[in-house]
Amino acid sequence: MYLSKLFIPITKDLPTEAKIKSHQLMLRTGMIKQSSAGIYSWLPLGYKIMKKIEQIVREEQNSIGAQEMLMPTIQSSEIWKESGRYDDYGEEMLRIQDRQGREMLYGPTNEELITDVFRSSVKSYKSLPQILYHIQWKFRDEIRPRFGVMRCKEFYMKDAYSFDLSDEEAKKSYNKMFYSYLKTFNRLDLKAIPMAADTGPIGGDLSHEFVILAETGESKIYADKNIFEIDPDRYKFDDLSLKKMREDFTRIYAVTDEKFKKEDFNKFVKKEDQITTKGIEVGHIFYFSDKYSKPMNCLIDDKDGKKTSVKMGSYGIGVSRLVGAIIEAKYNNDVMKWPKSISPFDVVIIPSISKNNKENLHKAEKIYQELKKQNIDALLDDVDENMSNKFKKHDLIGVPYQIIIGSKSVADNFEFKELNSQSEILSLEKIKLKLKN
Ligand code: ATP
Ligand code: MG
Repeated sequence: MYLSKLFIPITKDLPTEAKIKSHQLMLRTGMIKQSSAGIYSWLPLGYKIMKKIEQIVREEQNSIGAQEMLMPTIQSSEIWKESGRYDDYGEEMLRIQDRQGREMLYGPTNEELITDVFRSSVKSYKSLPQILYHIQWKFRDEIRPRFGVMRCKEFYMKDAYSFDLSDEEAKKSYNKMFYSYLKTFNRLDLKAIPMAADTGPIGGDLSHEFVILAETGESKIYADKNIFEIDPDRYKFDDLSLKKMREDFTRIYAVTDEKFKKEDFNKFVKKEDQITTKGIEVGHIFYFSDKYSKPMNCLIDDKDGKKTSVKMGSYGIGVSRLVGAIIEAKYNNDVMKWPKSISPFDVVIIPSISKNNKENLHKAEKIYQELKKQNIDALLDDVDENMSNKFKKHDLIGVPYQIIIGSKSVADNFEFKELNSQSEILSLEKIKLKLKN
């Protein structure tokens, strides 16, 4: 893509309404545009990044055997009355009426709807276990939407639902999802801590929040840094190993301020291993057994032909929140650098150009074509502007690699730079190799 053609409305001014880095940066680089309080349009740059995150989430759901589907955003109030949550959910739920006067709502979550889908089609234990998920917009009428896409009214969420015959089986599904979350956040280059959590309005007795470390997070965190030594890839993908993995996590101290006790922290964690910081919740998983299946009559025949309520869990990841959260976690010294797995481009080519000298631009175009042939997604900065402005702009956009075509490039050797590190002069062949890896 040529930068001059890209719809990327970069602004020079610092948006006054934005209090934190990610919000400022997303507005400045034209990733999003607010349409009303807590509701945003996603412009091409922001949308491209969000879609890459979504794809990683999807692949890691599929790899544990979860199946993708799509439920609507608008739901009927009937099923929420059945579960008893229609009145309980309160003002966060956006309630609407259709022209026949039917009570509808914009879904804040989908436990009821998926239970309704499930009860009408599955009758026997033989079809279990099942994990279904979708990636869909949600609406919660947050009282104080803030921090841009991190706490907004309309947001994009992956929500999965597991169905099992017994509590024991259901915990196996829970552990698989726990594992899938760790893999997902690893691929996004994030350090995520799973923390035992309160279950809130979703209900149930087993729950973990996945929190990433960032100074601007909403919750305070106290943890033993050894928690980052546990690598999900070291565990086999079978029920026993995954159970062991979750136990290994649970043994290591990590709490939010509600559960924090100074004595415990000092007792269980060596001074040099203590980390005290803030965090952003990017995922939340729940096991709530028959909380919805019982009132909604979602029954399964067990092995003896006896009817029993199916045992369910639900598992959310804030896909749109992750875009902001990753910026908060990665932004450093006024430079943004996207993890390679979700960077909007693989590399940006920055030629030094002037009115009378287009030679560097022609070189850049040739390189651009070469990279394209190799499926390397390059951005070419063909805008006629001085180099120092260009560099400032690319520090904001955060493409992790740069090919700079200016005074330092000789013949077919160019300046190649990874953001936040020193540049080197390399041949195009070597550059291609580096980018391929
Ligand atoms: P929070 O505690 O941050 O209010 P929650 O516990 O209400 O979130 P869940 O119901 O667990 O949220 O939703 C799953 C995920 O959806 C959260 O982990 C978060 O990443 C994301 N999410 C929830 N609310 C919002 C929001 N208002 N804006 C953006 N993302 C959100
Ligand atoms: Mg939560």
